[in-house]
Amino acid sequence: MLDLHTHTTASDGSFSLEELVKAAKKAGLKAIAITDHDNIRSAKRIRASTGIEVIPGVELTVYDYALGYRDIHVLGLFINPKDKTLNSKLARLEKEREAQKKATVARLVKLGYRITFAEVKKKAKGVVGRPHIAMVLKEKYPEEFHSVGEVFAKLLGRGKPAYLERRTGFGLGQAIALIHGAGGIAVLAHPFIYPYKPAKLAADFRRLGGDGMETHYDYATNQPEKRHSLAENGRLIAKGSSLAKSLGLLQSGGSDFHGANKGQVLGCFGAPDALLAPLKSARRKPL
Ligand code: AMP
Ligand code: FE
Ligand code: FE
Ligand code: ZN
Repeated sequence: MLDLHTHTTASDGSFSLEELVKAAKKAGLKAIAITDHDNIRSAKRIRASTGIEVIPGVELTVYDYALGYRDIHVLGLFINPKDKTLNSKLARLEKEREAQKKATVARLVKLGYRITFAEVKKKAKGVVGRPHIAMVLKEKYPEEFHSVGEVFAKLLGRGKPAYLERRTGFGLGQAIALIHGAGGIAVLAHPFIYPYKPAKLAADFRRLGGDGMETHYDYATNQPEKRHSLAENGRLIAKGSSLAKSLGLLQSGGSDFHGANKGQVLGCFGAPDALLAPLKSARRKPL
């Protein structure tokens, strides 16, 4: 089994790179990809290890105001972590991410929650994300919030009172080009979680040069509020697979592993081994 979508403590995962690799070996996975949000701090530290392939990757947050897509995620697999352009663009994205989270904290204060950005920052070992804000709120307001999910449902989720968009956009085409420039392949992450028509989004992604789609995704675990049954999850995978085939997009998949932060066990969800070779052959030479 493959898990080509995992997070470490460099973003909002609870496992360090080393812990993740160890767990992946134990679970008998054939390959994993390290795909932290908007940063490659863990991907940079990947060392050749025996028994398991560890692919350097990233999950870019896209705000394409021209196309009207906000908060879309694009996975870059097989990227060269040393790529200069990638590093400088990610430095910009990290700054924008931090500014957005600071503004979110300010909004929460306005809404009457007494939290500070310093408290949020303390929860993160790498770049800050909404889950870190949610952890602080859950800790400080245990009567109101019993889980991180409840904080998202009430305040931080898309369209909720403390959901703030980024000021500057990072376009879909820009994300794809950045990944290609770093020798990687661009994969549209979890196509069925956005408030946009998946077929239109995937077609735009393909038109702009995207390579693949994350067809095998654990919607049930990642969207507990939707209460997807296993059968429904299977139907979404089948739907994604036929959409990918019709558009000529390669298929990829993973659990979107965040460890304890989402109560996941590595190796419980993944994609078939057979998907790896075509993804690898689509790699291009770095510019
Ligand atoms: P951010 O990168 O700051 O926008 O935060 C996005 C992250 O929050 C996602 O990658 C998930 O890990 C997490 N997340 C998004 N929606 C939810 C939710 N409803 N419940 C729990 N975690 C969520
Ligand atoms: Fe995340
Ligand atoms: Fe994502
Ligand atoms: Zn992810």
